[in-house]
Amino acid sequence: MSEPIIRLEHVSRTYHVGDIDVHALRDVSLTVNAGEFVAIMGASGSGKSTLMAVLGCLDRPSGGRYFFEGIDVAQLGEPERARLRSERLGFVFQSFNLLARTSAIENVALPLFYAASGPESATARTERARAALKLLGLGERENNTPGQLSGGQQQRVAIARALINEPGLLLADEPTGNLDTRTSHEIMETLARLNREHGVTVIVVTHESDIAAYADRTITMRDGEIVSDLRNPKPTKVPLTAAAGAIAPAHRAAGAIARHTHTAWAFGRMIVAAALQALHRNMMRSALTMLGVFIGVAALIAMVAVGQGANEAVRKQIESLGTNLVVVLPGARTMGGARGGFGSASTLTVNDAIAIRRESTAVSGVSYLIRQSGQTQYANQNWTTSIQGVSPNYPPMTNWRIESGRGIDDDDDASAALVVVIGKSVQRQLFGETTDPIGALIQVKNVPMRVIGVLASKGQTPFGTDQDDVVMIPFNTAERKVLGVAAPTQTQAQLNWIYPDPPNPYALTTHLTGYVNQIFLQAASGASVQPAVAQATDILRRRHRIKAGSDDDFSVRNLSQIAETAESSSRIMALLLAAVASISLVVGGIGIMNILLVSVTERTREIGLRMAIGARRIHVLLQFLAEAVLLSITGGIAGIVMGVAFSLAISLLAGWAAPISLMAVAGGFLFSAAVGIFFGYYPARKAAGLDPIEALRYE
Ligand code: ADP
Ligand code: MG
Repeated sequence: MSEPIIRLEHVSRTYHVGDIDVHALRDVSLTVNAGEFVAIMGASGSGKSTLMAVLGCLDRPSGGRYFFEGIDVAQLGEPERARLRSERLGFVFQSFNLLARTSAIENVALPLFYAASGPESATARTERARAALKLLGLGERENNTPGQLSGGQQQRVAIARALINEPGLLLADEPTGNLDTRTSHEIMETLARLNREHGVTVIVVTHESDIAAYADRTITMRDGEIVSDLRNPKPTKVPLTAAAGAIAPAHRAAGAIARHTHTAWAFGRMIVAAALQALHRNMMRSALTMLGVFIGVAALIAMVAVGQGANEAVRKQIESLGTNLVVVLPGARTMGGARGGFGSASTLTVNDAIAIRRESTAVSGVSYLIRQSGQTQYANQNWTTSIQGVSPNYPPMTNWRIESGRGIDDDDDASAALVVVIGKSVQRQLFGETTDPIGALIQVKNVPMRVIGVLASKGQTPFGTDQDDVVMIPFNTAERKVLGVAAPTQTQAQLNWIYPDPPNPYALTTHLTGYVNQIFLQAASGASVQPAVAQATDILRRRHRIKAGSDDDFSVRNLSQIAETAESSSRIMALLLAAVASISLVVGGIGIMNILLVSVTERTREIGLRMAIGARRIHVLLQFLAEAVLLSITGGIAGIVMGVAFSLAISLLAGWAAPISLMAVAGGFLFSAAVGIFFGYYPARKAAGLDPIEALRYE
């Protein structure tokens, strides 16, 4: 005679509840041959379910040995036992345990996901599930969800699911317990027919003797022991049907264990499909969970873009100032800026500039300017602008480039030539877009001057001042012919329209010409900026005869330091923005974790069921992880789209460059995936760590 399908030798199962040992099974020995139809009866608490769990490889016996198809399954590891459940065993439960909001055919096909030998293609799986449903007489209802089926129909879907992998043994624990009498008999007839016509070995637990009468052997249990094991002389007759042979002959368990698993690719697809299905069943919740990551990623990308835009703007500003520059302004530097009042005069002169140029070793170039607001005129156009009398080296030192024509040279300055270089805004105001200004004669404070060049645009300062609203003329020309002698007694207020000065005790004792509004010093290198500041201060204090302890009547400002400060503060700002956005991403991740934890609790029975039909722990872990990552990545991608759109909108509407950084996009994507893995791992591990029997019993 061939190997029995089941051989139990002195099997016991003891639960430890506190200090008490509950002997759910004591010394059970049992043999079931292939093709048998066995009913297990007994009072509630007699150990029937415990026995079924042991037989179904869901639980391990505390003592004794269990051979399934000749294999000592107690020795097998978790993956092998899962594979046996998947391919050799079918489970039917009292409470059906179908996945809610999932069609009958999808429920039936579920075990194929976890079967190593299952068909690879989705269509083949669907075909097989359809055939199993037909066998159970549910061909018409394959698209109905459990909620749309009667109890009997649901149980038949569950039986079809148990049969899908052509198991050698079907275990049914009180399959009729939730059904009315008539439906109970239908289900039993179905099981009997599967046994008679398709050779499926069936073990069914029941309370009722008329249900047990379908089987050809009845085992009775009491207090964890088998008290009787009787052949049923006259099993209830079941009319034969013509549909025999739909289930293939049983394979051997050894074959099932030896068979290799799916390829990694198919495995991955299956996990993602299961995760998608789960997310799809809870659309609203999934969408809301994604929202956190969505907002986080969108904010991250937009904030980085805004921060970089600001950074970029500051850097442009700094570049337009010139490098290693120090500016000397008349008037003392106090806490609140330049101090001064009406009636004060400039304290700086050309001779100061020349002295610094001659005496300071750290300074490689010196330029200076005088300026005043005044009117320019061309034809019938007139425009009030800033008129600057500059030393010829001032424009190159401060990064003013000539766009067309030429700049002011030394000869122009020496001869006080009536030439002018105009800024872009002045060109636009006086000449419009079409007229070429080079060579034209314009009036600068009523002095006719020839336009020799146009300055390239520098744009606005961070404070919104238009830097291009300017005309430049040679310093000597300005002093002698246009702005007049910059005598403190006559033009002090005008001269200092931009930097009000403190009262100058030397105003009347120094000579009346050669006053300047700004002196620019270029340090030889970045390292000599500080020495240049110190030397210029010393030289000017000496020349202005300022006593030790008294305030300077000028101020020296390190422009590159201001630039660096501005740059680093804008960088800090950008970092802060990104950090705040990252925090919202983390909050989104916590949202995912939270929802998954709820989901694990809510789906405890589903997890138990998945394990019963063959899912390994790693399958469950990966499925929940996949759900988390899918949630976060979908949210992340939507966030990237939103963030990019937002950045573009800022660029367009605010006119502020908000460059989209590829780094931020890639970072946002990777970050969201990482958030999914990080925050999904804990719930996923919790799900995978569940005990299958306890999960199935969970209410
Ligand atoms: P039946 O299915 O015949 O009603 P069970 O096999 O479910 O009985 O239970 C057999 C005995 O084991 C009962 O006394 C029950 O209280 C006990 N039992 C079952 N599962 C557990 C468990 N997880 N922890 C403690 N005791 C348990
Ligand atoms: Mg039970």
